[in-house]
Amino acid sequence: MNKIHDCIIIGSGPAGFSAAVYAKRACLDTLLFEEITLQGGQIVNTYEVDNYLGIEKIDGYTLSQKFRDHALRMGLEIISKKVIEVDVSNKIKIVKTKNEEYQTKTIIFATGAIPLSLGVKGENEFKGKGVSYCATCDGAFFKEQTTMVVGGGDVAVEDAIFLSRMCKKVYLVHRRDELRATKILQEELFSKENVEVIWDSIVEEIKGKENLQSVIIKNKKTNENKEIFLQGIFCAIGTKARSELIIEKVDTENGYIIANEDCITSIDGIFAAGDVRKKPLRQLITAASDGANAISSVEKYLLKSK
Ligand code: NAP
Repeated sequence: MNKIHDCIIIGSGPAGFSAAVYAKRACLDTLLFEEITLQGGQIVNTYEVDNYLGIEKIDGYTLSQKFRDHALRMGLEIISKKVIEVDVSNKIKIVKTKNEEYQTKTIIFATGAIPLSLGVKGENEFKGKGVSYCATCDGAFFKEQTTMVVGGGDVAVEDAIFLSRMCKKVYLVHRRDELRATKILQEELFSKENVEVIWDSIVEEIKGKENLQSVIIKNKKTNENKEIFLQGIFCAIGTKARSELIIEKVDTENGYIIANEDCITSIDGIFAAGDVRKKPLRQLITAASDGANAISSVEKYLLKSK
């Protein structure tokens, strides 16, 4: 507890590791916390990344390992323990795990985001029994079966494409008549013969006995309900910021920490980087960019507050 670190980074996604690389280059005494060993953030669950500059195609897990290895080679110390509380009321901040406390001059929240729930009847009951939030993690359980993806963004379309390679049939249910996903993904989706897009529809209920058996969807235009029999449903309707450690102390909007590109939050010495920050574009490359910006701001803050 006696040592005072220059910077503690919470989160081991691209924003966290990018901040760590920049911190080590700047010779800052830095620790990075991840909740569980090799956590790696949402990118770990992405089956293919093709829009990270300089790397044409790579799976998300491998890329996250590259980020980790890079930071480790720079001398980063990673602590695989869940942070349960932060005290940011004084100039020296305290980061608490179950059994330990760490002192630091600055904290970077690179805690990312988690998938949103549909909030419909049966969703909780059949979680892990047909209801999933990660096609890359669970898709293989549904080989030659019928599945459904809910959502119209990049994640939903990527998930449907991924599942189409192993499932007999994939439904994509979207609440509007137009997808939000990028055009290149849409083109690939529409080329898949075993994918059927169900427009203007929402999930009303998830049904089953021991495992999921069917999903009731409602067409918003006609108000008609339809029951679709299937084995798996993948919810990809967006994410929620993981700002719970600081949400009551810092300025936020819809849970996302308010900070500009400089990653400076409403609390002195506290910075937000990556998907947890309020920003217009949540991508791997913007998360990595945030990590660099956050450390630049940390360095300026440390100089000023000497
Ligand atoms: P997203 O872009 O926010 O899309 C969420 C989708 O779910 C939207 O189509 C939305 O419908 C729909 N939706 C939201 N709430 C719903 C509800 N209650 N019921 C039914 N549908 C609902 O989220 P995302 O796809 O998770 O992507 C998150 C971020 O990561 C985005 O910035 C995305 O671009 C980025 N990303 C990029 C890549 C890539 O570049 N390869 C890959 C993955 C993710 P509406 O369209 O009607 O709002």
